Amino acid sequence: MKLITFLHENVEKVGVLAADETAVAPLPFPDMNTLIESGNLSAAQAAESVPLSEVTLLAPIPHPRQDVICLGINYRSHAAEAEQYSDAFKKERPIPIYFSKRVTEAVAPGGFIESHPGLVERLDYEAELAVIIGKKARNVPAEEAERYIFGYTVLNDVSARVLQTSHKQWYFGKGLDGFTPMGPCITTADEIAFPPRLAITCRVNGELRQDSTTDLLLTGIPEIIAELSSGMTLLPGTIIATGTPAGVGMGFDPPRFLKSGDSVECRIEGIGTLQNTVR
Ligand code: MG
Repeated sequence: MKLITFLHENVEKVGVLAADETAVAPLPFPDMNTLIESGNLSAAQAAESVPLSEVTLLAPIPHPRQDVICLGINYRSHAAEAEQYSDAFKKERPIPIYFSKRVTEAVAPGGFIESHPGLVERLDYEAELAVIIGKKARNVPAEEAERYIFGYTVLNDVSARVLQTSHKQWYFGKGLDGFTPMGPCITTADEIAFPPRLAITCRVNGELRQDSTTDLLLTGIPEIIAELSSGMTLLPGTIIATGTPAGVGMGFDPPRFLKSGDSVECRIEGIGTLQNTVR
């Protein structure tokens, strides 16, 4: 099922999207974190459906309880063709880069990416598949990781490239207000074959910039969960952004960064399209 967080008559609610995505059936949980934590979604009685036209969509987890855990440089976009050409190009899997993305409030589908004039230069987009952890995970072997996943969403890991690279760590350049658009929904794990092999794209003002599939991760989802949980307890509602494929603004020559008024659409098959506008 597809789960959303929304405002209806000024009250925040969570619910299940109808199959045709024109209505939502509210569920009896105050927010998505509580829903995930309950571990008992199938027993929840949905209320009468509300037309989607009468609600305002929010990010599926508007207020993550902890920072988003992100992976840097985690697609084999460029490596794949070289490996196909010759085994000589095959490399050992690299050590994953983990970093933290502060999210005071996730940006809703249709909401604004903040451009922070005077602070931010070289504003960039990164379409990513985000994994939502469903139950407390500690010392989870890779072969059991799937059972700890609640679902998946689309996340735009908005990045201020000058801040990101001029400070030793990426925290400031990745964690500004308005830098984490998320949504439009969480698709529950039972609806997506594991590991997910889904088309992922990003368009800027309609122009295709990123175009890949989510099975091309250098460090796969089972390995990520196994490694992190070997020393770090992952709580229900934890969000792991799995990295972005080729085609971000800094990857072009000359680079093509975002400017005020640009429309950014990140899309993942089976989840949906996350559209945001740069303010
Ligand atoms: Mg990223």
